[in-house]
Amino acid sequence: MRREPLILGGGPAGSAAAITLARGGARPLVIERTRETGDALCGGFLSWRTLETLASLGIAADALNPARVVRVRIFARGRRVEAALPAPAIGVSRTRLDTLLLDRAVQNGAAVERGVVARAIEDGAIRTGDGALLASDALFLASGKHDVRGAARPSAARGVDPTLGLRTRRRGVDLARRVGDAIELHLFDRGYAGVVLQEDGSANVCLAIRRSRLTEAGSPDALLAALADELPVFADRLVGDATPVEAIANVPYGWRARHGTDGCYRLGDQAAVIPSLAGEGMGIALASGVSAAKAWLAGEPSATWQSRFARQTARPVLLASTIRAMAERPPMIAPLLPIAARLGLIDAVAAATRITPG
Ligand SMILES: Cc1cc2nc3c(=O)[nH]c(=O)nc-3n(C[C@H](O)[C@H](O)[C@H](O)COP(=O)(O)OP(=O)(O)OC[C@H]3O[C@@H](n4cnc5c(N)ncnc54)[C@H](O)[C@@H]3O)c2cc1C
Repeated sequence: MRREPLILGGGPAGSAAAITLARGGARPLVIERTRETGDALCGGFLSWRTLETLASLGIAADALNPARVVRVRIFARGRRVEAALPAPAIGVSRTRLDTLLLDRAVQNGAAVERGVVARAIEDGAIRTGDGALLASDALFLASGKHDVRGAARPSAARGVDPTLGLRTRRRGVDLARRVGDAIELHLFDRGYAGVVLQEDGSANVCLAIRRSRLTEAGSPDALLAALADELPVFADRLVGDATPVEAIANVPYGWRARHGTDGCYRLGDQAAVIPSLAGEGMGIALASGVSAAKAWLAGEPSATWQSRFARQTARPVLLASTIRAMAERPPMIAPLLPIAARLGLIDAVAAATRITPG
């Protein structure tokens, strides 16, 4: 059995844990199923708070994207409101972010084995795709959106009309001008689309929608066509060269791991899934990685840490879930938006849905 920590997954949560553990003198091993870093399905918005955490891990915002996102622009039922973000944020591709994070982990002394798939967790050890059993005193479960047999999140967390994530990238000169320095949220019945420019100038168009809405449309492309008919400003964001629409099923928004098990720290989406409308999922991933690694280095039991982290995420996740429930009903939220903008509530909510590493 390894005495050194074993990290399952080399996304933001796993990398943040690896960097922190290695800096603290440990020699963590990260196992990652992909051989090369891809562009994970994500909205690509990094909040100011997430940028602070990244800076503490040695990754400067400018290395991700020199351009800044300074405002949020919300569209609902023909209404448009805009508010300044509490501090500058950025848009970035996951290829860029995940590559820099994993490189930083290696530079700090972590070992990374790529192309190794965890098939199951058995008695706290990882059963890999080739049948080997990897055991460690401390397992950091950072498989993100993907559940691993033996440690899967409960299926009830997905709800009766589960949420799907869809993403396409668009590139066009006019698009960059239209979106500019904003993160845009286009609200519609049972879902929303976020649009932000990334480091290569393309727009990341990412949707979180209820399955019933996709079923009614028939296919992701048909859904985008229907939304373009319904929402003229959103249609303006679907111009230019397009990448195929990618999808991820059953996102358990609102779920939190309230209790831990001995020897296993659940990180990132395996610890808490904040509705992506808040743009703080990566913030939670990084914060959990840093915080759990510090806990292990300080000898804090994993179960104690897990409960502590669950308390830390309670308010942002609950608030984001409430806002999301309203956002999915545009007739209800649209009349409130101008009032909320006048009262400064939009930036207040943006600030209150952030997470800080504890
Ligand atoms: C539609 C949508 C939009 C979003 N938009 C935003 C946004 O704009 N801003 C934001 O901050 N957050 C956003 N999020 C949330 C964000 O994407 C996640 O919270 C974040 O990726 C979680 O990081 P993670 O490291 O926990 O997991 P992941 O990023 O999923 O990384 C997990 C890693 O583990 C590896 N892995 C998985 N299973 C195995 C296995 N069995 N064996 C070996 N390796 C494995 C994967 O290959 C991957 O590299 C969004 C989410 C969705 C669904």
